[in-house]
Amino acid sequence: MLNLAQRKPKFPVEEERLPWLSMLLDALWVIDRGVAASLPKHVAENPGQAVACHKGCHACCLDNDIPVTPLEAVGITWFVAEKAARVVKADVLTALQAFPHRANTEAGCPFVLNGNCLVYPVRPIACRNYIVFSVPCALGEDPTETRPGDVLRPIGSFARQAFRLMLPYYGFHQEQDLEQAVRDKYLFTVTGSMHRADWSRLKALVEASVRGS
Ligand code: SF4
Repeated sequence: MLNLAQRKPKFPVEEERLPWLSMLLDALWVIDRGVAASLPKHVAENPGQAVACHKGCHACCLDNDIPVTPLEAVGITWFVAEKAARVVKADVLTALQAFPHRANTEAGCPFVLNGNCLVYPVRPIACRNYIVFSVPCALGEDPTETRPGDVLRPIGSFARQAFRLMLPYYGFHQEQDLEQAVRDKYLFTVTGSMHRADWSRLKALVEASVRGS
């Protein structure tokens, strides 16, 4: 699924109330700009290749171990609880209720329903950076193994900049601490996965919202 926003999303009222929100939105925006900058480089190096990801294509969401950082998980919860339309909230509830019963819960994402990403505007960095060329992934295929030349390698400086923007959420504020945390890859030490993350608070919020409306 590939749909790069043309403008950085802004939520001025919420960003005033929730200081972490600007960090997250800025970081996600930098990642999207990194993908936009990396695509022509990949195509120049691999003439004739076109992006295979498209709306409704979701094999990667079903059977990968998808990384998510705590800040990204907080952002997903916020987005669904405060910004999503009622119909999306109801879909998220359906997806979360179904998730533990899916055949393979050793991997995958709880937010894919009927081939759609229910949290697309705030999907994690891992999802944003994962772009496959030529043909879409087959279910169970890991193109990084089967055809690594078909997988985008995003320009690394964008990810480093995005990680740096997120670090204040974890208590890093001073210049030298930020530099060190980027060098130490601090974010990797707190990264979990979409399928193992505890979404119970979000589930309770959408249950209350759907019931109350
Ligand atoms: S957050 Fe969205 S794009 Fe990412 S794995 Fe889940 S359903 Fe797929």
